[in-house]
Amino acid sequence: MGTSVEDVVIVGGGIAGLGTAVALKRAGIEALVLERSEGLRTTGAALSLFSNAWCALDALGVSHKLASYTPSLKNYVTDLDTGEVQEVSLTEANGDAVGPRTVHRKALLEALADELSVHSIRFSSKISAIETQQHEGSSIAIVHMENGTVIKAKVLIGCDGVHSVVSRWLGLREPVFSGRSAVRGLAVYPQGHGLEQNVRRYVGSGRNAGFVPLTDKEIYWFFSGISPAKGASLAEDPEDIRKEVLENYAKDLPPIYLDVVQHADLSTLTWAPLMFRYPWNVVFGNLSKQNITVAGDAMHPMTPDLAQGGCSALEDAVILGRHIGTSFVQNGQVLVVKKMSEVLGKYVEERRWRVTLLITWSYISGWVQQGGSGWGMKFLRDTIFYKFLFLKMVKYVTYDCGKLDF
Ligand SMILES: Cc1cc2nc3c(=O)[nH]c(=O)nc-3n(C[C@H](O)[C@H](O)[C@H](O)COP(=O)(O)OP(=O)(O)OC[C@H]3O[C@@H](n4cnc5c(N)ncnc54)[C@H](O)[C@@H]3O)c2cc1C
Repeated sequence: MGTSVEDVVIVGGGIAGLGTAVALKRAGIEALVLERSEGLRTTGAALSLFSNAWCALDALGVSHKLASYTPSLKNYVTDLDTGEVQEVSLTEANGDAVGPRTVHRKALLEALADELSVHSIRFSSKISAIETQQHEGSSIAIVHMENGTVIKAKVLIGCDGVHSVVSRWLGLREPVFSGRSAVRGLAVYPQGHGLEQNVRRYVGSGRNAGFVPLTDKEIYWFFSGISPAKGASLAEDPEDIRKEVLENYAKDLPPIYLDVVQHADLSTLTWAPLMFRYPWNVVFGNLSKQNITVAGDAMHPMTPDLAQGGCSALEDAVILGRHIGTSFVQNGQVLVVKKMSEVLGKYVEERRWRVTLLITWSYISGWVQQGGSGWGMKFLRDTIFYKFLFLKMVKYVTYDCGKLDF
């Protein structure tokens, strides 16, 4: 059983964890990332990144590596109850000339991981418990690994996702199930799909389905709806998941959508329950304590209705990296442990209200879009939501988290 002392330990090598490690590296801090999987975890296949994410990726110095992904300019939304199709301009709603780009998760994670030294990410490293120890008037985090290893850290950052061990240690309330689940995957067309770079969505009566081309041969598609009763067993067999989507949940969707699902690459297909943290638990909860904090889904799990979980995880990474990095540089390239509680407190206060609003807007967006087929809900969805509220919400995701200049 070995013991080592690190400046910064990050639990979880997903978007938030790798992003934070890259941000810290820009300041000259080599963080240790502990990831329980054997390699980069690409569950979910792809994700859409809005302009706030691209600002963060610029600050991290990796956006150029994803330059081959092109923006989606239009969003065609079909109301499943009325058949009406609305065209929502994503660039207009975004308030800038570039619409969201959908990227492979693998490409995003690799772009971040490639910035780090090979020793910075330790795979097959699952943390099981945390405690703290007083050392010369300051708090040191003690991380216990499942294999018996113990690691001491001057700063501990939990980027360990929805079921975060670190957020539990902070005393944050557990995320709750939204009542909905989502299937995601890639469709592959070896001869090319021939579709334009637009988002197509189908919403209403408790369902939200859609797809967006990733390359000229690959399409990212998703389906979310009221959780299937057979949920737990569906999650294990991709062939069953596809069958259920085609023959049950989405059987009345337009042929173009069903064709995309038919072309699913089963190795990329996953099913997940949609979880979120109640906004008031973020407002009133301890998002940091002493020298320990959280980022990404570990802090603010949200439903994916505004596609902001990953985007805001990248914002967290830059802002947290800037707070810790500035302190490090101002103290002569030294991480002064007794200053860390205040440094992390400033990060938390910068993030708290923004992520609270993102959780709230995401939930409202999902509720309105997938609500029932009554005339009131239809009026809300078609007249108020898409013509007015959606544009306001999407504008809210135009946020610049700033640069990393040390
Ligand atoms: C259906 C769906 C669609 C989505 N679409 C979008 C989208 O289009 N755009 C967008 O921005 N976001 C989207 N999201 C949200 C996005 O996927 C998440 O917000 C994002 O992945 C969060 O990143 P993270 O690094 O915080 O957590 P994760 O990606 O969950 O990474 C956490 C990492 O921690 C590791 N880990 C966990 N526990 C431990 C432990 N004890 N020890 C060591 N390692 C551990 C895990 O293995 C994992 O690698 C979507 C989510 C869903 C469910």
